[in-house]
Amino acid sequence: MKIAIASGKGGTGKTTVSLNLALSLSDVQLFDCDVEEPNCNLFLGFDLEKVEDVICPVPVIDQEKCNICRQCSDFCRYNALAAISTRVLFFPSLCHGCGGCAVLCPEKAIQESQRSLGLIEKAKGRSSPEFYRGLLNIGETMTSAVIKALKKHIDDRKTAILDAPPGTSCPVIASIGDVDYCVLVTESTPFGFHDLKLAVGVVRALKIPFGIVINRWGLGDSRVEEYCKAEGIPVLLKIPNDLRIAELYSRGIPFVQEMRDGKNSFLVCLKQ
Ligand code: SF4
Ligand code: SF4
Repeated sequence: MKIAIASGKGGTGKTTVSLNLALSLSDVQLFDCDVEEPNCNLFLGFDLEKVEDVICPVPVIDQEKCNICRQCSDFCRYNALAAISTRVLFFPSLCHGCGGCAVLCPEKAIQESQRSLGLIEKAKGRSSPEFYRGLLNIGETMTSAVIKALKKHIDDRKTAILDAPPGTSCPVIASIGDVDYCVLVTESTPFGFHDLKLAVGVVRALKIPFGIVINRWGLGDSRVEEYCKAEGIPVLLKIPNDLRIAELYSRGIPFVQEMRDGKNSFLVCLKQ
């Protein structure tokens, strides 16, 4: 199964759930899809090695051959090309590498070059869990392309846990779009409740089966539980607002490694 761990907002405990779930299973892969700031390995401490560069094909325009017909700029739906009176301007950060402009150009004035977007790394040797992460270049906007490249390393014979980026925008869709199940992590706070509803809207639109994990449960706000009950959404697990868990987190230790009942909690969560 491919299981995505997502949340409507950052800081709810998505990485905590991803790590502890992965560490409770055997024969499992863990993918850190939060490619703008992957943090799973802060807790795992694996030595990482590069497995591939993620690149995007981009056009190079021969201005000598170009007759400024504007077909390429009219075609580019990402506004990466702008034909002015004397030349065609290209804005690399907007280009999605579709290649359409090169195919379309009647003067064969467009060749393709390559632009680096980031890289994919994996834990060296035989790690448990088998760990991969994507790393987006600083200032780069093509987040989803790096996530898609990362997900090509999913081994269908194994359970794959995908730690999705926070929010409900394109990188989240790229992470969770084709998974078998989505775990939405929330917390019993007003912000947690608000953003949970946004995340529920996304997984429902994508028709992905899902359940909820309530992190830092017991903060006194019961709206998340009331909402789940009213909507018929299964609450898979409640992780208590326990100082021991926070202390372990601050030391970079996943709590299933130190708390006797932690692993069982996650296995029960999976059975549900
Ligand atoms: S490759 Fe596609 S996205 Fe990039 S400039 Fe050409 S048409 Fe636009
Ligand atoms: S389609 Fe080709 S010839 Fe026309 S403006 Fe673009 S680069 Fe120039």
